[in-house]
Amino acid sequence: MAQAVINKNKTASVSSGAENFSAVVSDLAGSVPVPVNENNKKTLISIRNLKQYFPVKGNKNMFVKANDGIDLDIFEGETLGLVGESGCGKSTLGRTLLQLYAPTEGRTFYYGKPLTAISPKNLTDIIKELPAEKQELIKLFSTDRKAAQELFLDLVRVFGGLLLSPNEDEVTAAYLEYYSEGKTSEDSPDSGSRAETFEARRRSIADSSVTDKDNFKRLEKLRDEGIDLTRLTYNEMRRLRRDMQIIFQDPYSSLNPRMTVGQIIGEGPLAHEFFTGEGEALQDHVMKIMEECGLAPYMIHRYPHQFSGGQRQRIGIARSLAVNPKFIVCDEAVSALDVSIQSQILNLLSELKEKSNLTYLFISHDLSVIKYISDRIGVMYLGNIVEIARSEDIFKKPLHPYTEALLSAIPTTNIDKPKNQIILEGDIPSPINPPKGCKFHTRCRYVSSECKETEPLFREVEPGHFAACHHCLT
Ligand code: SF4
Repeated sequence: MAQAVINKNKTASVSSGAENFSAVVSDLAGSVPVPVNENNKKTLISIRNLKQYFPVKGNKNMFVKANDGIDLDIFEGETLGLVGESGCGKSTLGRTLLQLYAPTEGRTFYYGKPLTAISPKNLTDIIKELPAEKQELIKLFSTDRKAAQELFLDLVRVFGGLLLSPNEDEVTAAYLEYYSEGKTSEDSPDSGSRAETFEARRRSIADSSVTDKDNFKRLEKLRDEGIDLTRLTYNEMRRLRRDMQIIFQDPYSSLNPRMTVGQIIGEGPLAHEFFTGEGEALQDHVMKIMEECGLAPYMIHRYPHQFSGGQRQRIGIARSLAVNPKFIVCDEAVSALDVSIQSQILNLLSELKEKSNLTYLFISHDLSVIKYISDRIGVMYLGNIVEIARSEDIFKKPLHPYTEALLSAIPTTNIDKPKNQIILEGDIPSPINPPKGCKFHTRCRYVSSECKETEPLFREVEPGHFAACHHCLT
């Protein structure tokens, strides 16, 4: 049997044909974990194996590995805090996921809009090329297993179980009709019924042509309606920018000194065609947002230099909110402010989140700030997330030695119970040439020989609490 041959010798060549294609798919599907959402939260952004390498000036063969294979899910309505020492790759992650930097490798999926709202070119290309892609998959399976897995994932995310249908013309026609740009959109009044019609058509193709029902069910679970941000064209990504905004660290350099507050806040809505011109409607919108952000509407004609640091940061927040985003990266959004102003801005961000059901990725090196605002916290070290959990779990029971050391550095006001501060010896290793095994082993007080040789897996140690360590703290 073709299946037995493939499992015995995975690099053996396979002849073409529907039966062998089914066997290839079955084999590849076995190596992909079926996603499980045990907490029933809606994922808004899903990052997989994200790598961001920057070339070193003067040496094209050396790279600064700012992000080195990050897997992360951000749930709708949560604030995910990201903490770590300067230079660990937090800001790079935030900017790469917004596609401000083109990632070196990996994928970022966005679930805040249906795929039909964009119908990206890479999707319609895959649909049109289905027969050729299937042949390519058979070829790659015998020559390049990793590339075959990548292509398999691309195909199965789109077609699910219909990948097994020999009736390619029918599948292609159904998909192109559903996804063709201009025919469907999230705002279309009939988009719900169109989706139902499409699903009914998929079911009927499957019933009439797919014989391997078990495999069909498995592949259906791998179907994914996320928009792959890393594959979008410039204009497609531009259409999504209104959903995904950023608040920068420096409230001084991030505002154009030649523009008034009204122009700064109104620029986004105009660019995204919320309004047809600089009329009264736009001005009303800008003043409403200013008020929500604690800025008096009469300030609309002032320039940034006429404001204090805290007020400028409010302008930055208002600029992000003006396009009704769903997701905001707050990149050290309060680090440049006085402590009293920090708390005002944090409270404002929390209020706005509740009011507009926003999702934040809140980047900071300050654990007290992160603790105050976050629902979950991710800890980064040298380009990787080493621990992630609910905020209270991280503070009550850190599992990773690096998190333990960071927490011990938070100053305490309790003089009866002084803290046992853990001093991390040595410097952070170079991200150009990180240490073998666990990247933290050069500074870890629990290091073992295993840590120096083998990279620890990022795994779920306790429910909802993930860490990458061979000897998690208990
Ligand atoms: S794997 Fe080893 S070196 Fe790395 S954090 Fe855990 S105990 Fe420390």
